[in-house]
Amino acid sequence: MTHTPASAKTLLIDGNRRFAAGSPRHPRQDAAARATLLEGQTPHTCVISCSDSRVPPEIIFDQGFGDMFVIRNGGHIPTDVVLASAEFAHVVAQCCLIVVLGHESCKALEFSRKLRAGEELDLPGSTSVLTNGVLADLVDDDGSLFPTVPRIVERLRGSQVLGKAEADGKIEILGAGYHLHSGEVEWL
Ligand SMILES: [Zn+2]
Repeated sequence: MTHTPASAKTLLIDGNRRFAAGSPRHPRQDAAARATLLEGQTPHTCVISCSDSRVPPEIIFDQGFGDMFVIRNGGHIPTDVVLASAEFAHVVAQCCLIVVLGHESCKALEFSRKLRAGEELDLPGSTSVLTNGVLADLVDDDGSLFPTVPRIVERLRGSQVLGKAEADGKIEILGAGYHLHSGEVEWL
């Protein structure tokens, strides 16, 4: 099936509606669906999201095997590898929609805000990489639930590959935020 940015967004909106309403279809999650993908993948959407276990993209958008190219890390920090993976998602895997998905009650964001306010945090090992990474995208913190999402969308648009693809109408890059209580995704 050939997708467009608009048709991909419709799939996500419909899937999230089913999920939030408590009536997910769990599409294409069986062995038969798995078998249709042995030769390759053509996911419609690339999602960049936090690793938080309460925000699994395939579940909250009620999608299945082969539907979404998902890039996750704590705080959905747009590292070089994340940006490269998003470019790969479009150029190689042919995604036509890229969604930066923030979420409510993000611990990485909470810690980063504390650091920003001058609080001392005792984070062992490499953990501070996460808070500092989120901090870098908190420049325009307006106290909103998903303050880093617009900046990450901006960063993706700054990619030569993705910026051109969006200008040419081949892809769309969108920000969104997930509400833990309702299960609803808000489009930003
Ligand atoms: Zn998070």
